[in-house]
Amino acid sequence: MLSKISRPLLALVATPVVAALLVGASQGGGATPGSATAGDPYFPASGNGGYHVVHYGLDLGYTPETKQLQGAADLTVTPTQRLGSFYLDFSGMTVDSVRVDGRRAEFSRSGTELKVTPQRSLDRGRKVHVVVTYSGVPENVVDPDGSADGWIIQPDGSVFVANEPQGAMTWFPSNSHPKDKSTYDVAITVPNGWTAVSNGRLRDQRSHYGKTTFSWRESQPMAAYLSTASIGKFQTEQYVTAGGLPVYNAVAPSQAAEAGPVLAQLPAVIDWESRLFGRYPFDAAGSIVADAPDVGYALETQTRPIYDRAPDIGTLVHETAHQWFGDSVTLTKWQDIWLNEGFATYAEWLWSAEHGGLTTAQQFAADYALPATDSLWSFPAGDPGDGGHIFAKPPYERGAMVLEKLRQTVGDRAFFTILRTWASENRHGHGTSAEFIALSKKISHKNLDALFTTWLYGKGKPATP
Ligand SMILES: [Zn+2]
Repeated sequence: MLSKISRPLLALVATPVVAALLVGASQGGGATPGSATAGDPYFPASGNGGYHVVHYGLDLGYTPETKQLQGAADLTVTPTQRLGSFYLDFSGMTVDSVRVDGRRAEFSRSGTELKVTPQRSLDRGRKVHVVVTYSGVPENVVDPDGSADGWIIQPDGSVFVANEPQGAMTWFPSNSHPKDKSTYDVAITVPNGWTAVSNGRLRDQRSHYGKTTFSWRESQPMAAYLSTASIGKFQTEQYVTAGGLPVYNAVAPSQAAEAGPVLAQLPAVIDWESRLFGRYPFDAAGSIVADAPDVGYALETQTRPIYDRAPDIGTLVHETAHQWFGDSVTLTKWQDIWLNEGFATYAEWLWSAEHGGLTTAQQFAADYALPATDSLWSFPAGDPGDGGHIFAKPPYERGAMVLEKLRQTVGDRAFFTILRTWASENRHGHGTSAEFIALSKKISHKNLDALFTTWLYGKGKPATP
């Protein structure tokens, strides 16, 4: 994510609902209820326990005039324990029915949790289909830092869909924590003249009785927070890069003139980042450029970042770098957000250094020169403290400083080997800060404890640069 506005920081609201939901009696035959949380203290209501979603099949219909969304979500679910009941994350909307392998299931709602109780308990390891049908006008989430995410409806009926960190639950029932990654088929039906854009490849576009259905497939595992289904009266463009990668761009007409020259650099940016970070992780690319300046940020939606306005080249470089760092290698707890934002910010530094800007060492020095009272030093990059601070300055700028410090300590050769190995070993998977530190030590053959203790986890401004 890259913010264009400074956002107020609010305290994280406690969620007693989740705590209450965790208390559940065990059910007959050894079946137990799945947990209502993934256990992340930054966003305790996000994610659930007891199962893995292998695949989401989402069939959506949206009417811009009324802002009504109709959905049928077919989740292919593998229980990781014998389940008498389980939870999905879902907020707002009206749930019309829930079926598990075709049989009607009981359901109830509390806060952002949808509890499903199948007629028969689910066996561990045996895949089932959970189909939820629903309708209503989605309402976006307001996060602890005051920003909006999820299904964000614009005054003209177009929709900006960006889910980091909590917003997926506003438009489909999900296991909405980055720990669980899934493949997706997303079909969106809109009136003719409107375009609906999701992740991955466009498999089909078909018009019928005044409506058009756009069918998208994301074949690589994706965290729910990286999904999108953005809708607008976009200008679209499709081409295949010299390297064989299909590109799909959707641009709000008001932004087209300014966005065009920047988006045209996407293949060059992907090639440049591939040389630095290793093979591009996905089988599709592109951009969604909305005219939604009130949103105030861009997000690295998988394969196809979304921008609230025409991006500048630095923002394009940042969101593209996230395809390696965040989208392919995904965090397992929100505390580790610097693994996303520090890396994407460092990619911007590298780009700038190669295009007439400051060198990365000069950028580091310029940051270090900021006074101890600057918000840069307000908390450690590796420990934001709560969900209200993950998009503040330290994970971005101090995160990039950690990487520059590492580069200066281990040398260019080892440093870029670390980045490429990190991306390849954890491709389409997950990584933690502890694993990154261990990998850095292994490749450099250096004891880097003091470096990370001071620069990643140290409070305040380090005494020496
Ligand atoms: Zn970012």
